Amino acid sequence: MNIAIDGPSGAGKSTIAKILAKNLGITYLDTGAMYRALGLKAYLCGVSPCDEDAVKQLLTSTVIDVGAGENGTVVFLDGKDVSLDIRKNNISKMASDISALQSVRIYMVALQQKIAASKDSVLDGRDIGTVVLPDAEFKFFLTASAEVRAHRRYLELLSRGENCNEADILRDIISRDYNDSHRKFSPLKKADDAIEIDTTDLDIDGVENKIMNIIKEKK
Ligand code: C5P
Repeated sequence: MNIAIDGPSGAGKSTIAKILAKNLGITYLDTGAMYRALGLKAYLCGVSPCDEDAVKQLLTSTVIDVGAGENGTVVFLDGKDVSLDIRKNNISKMASDISALQSVRIYMVALQQKIAASKDSVLDGRDIGTVVLPDAEFKFFLTASAEVRAHRRYLELLSRGENCNEADILRDIISRDYNDSHRKFSPLKKADDAIEIDTTDLDIDGVENKIMNIIKEKK
């Protein structure tokens, strides 16, 4: 069984995906972490996401491992734990820019499909229901107002001790939404057969109940 969860940043995808994976005893794959790891690598190597040839070179020399740890996604970049580094605000932008490149999408999508084919999984991202797993048994599309998503992200960054400003985060979120939904390859888009859930006024238990009920009904 595969579950696809898509939606813009801050809609609560990763939180709910982790809970579903635990409830159902299946694997959680945070696909955004894969793009973030590549974005971090480009940043560290001084490679611009506009230079597709250089990014292609990076892909051939980069090893990204994404797994589930006690406190969330654990990401290794070339053997080094970068789980915290990839969440920094500047890396969000690098990830969004680099994920628009066709060669990057082809590489990541193939890797994600391979992982999902090998075990029951819940994947969260932007193109899971449309491109990565068009035949997923369950597809959800989570949304929330940009203001609420920015506030959630602000609290998350604060809790990690990052210095941040909520207005800047809101601006970044709006610009990332635009990038993600207007790119040529695999844009952020609700699959026609995905169930949309607006989480603006729901807490995480509310979202969990809604989704678990839908899954139980169909199984
Ligand atoms: O989900 P998260 O915010 O961690 O993802 C970081 C960036 O990676 C997104 O802004 C998006 O541009 C990109 N991404 C993507 N496709 C996915 C997952 C993430 O393009 N399946």
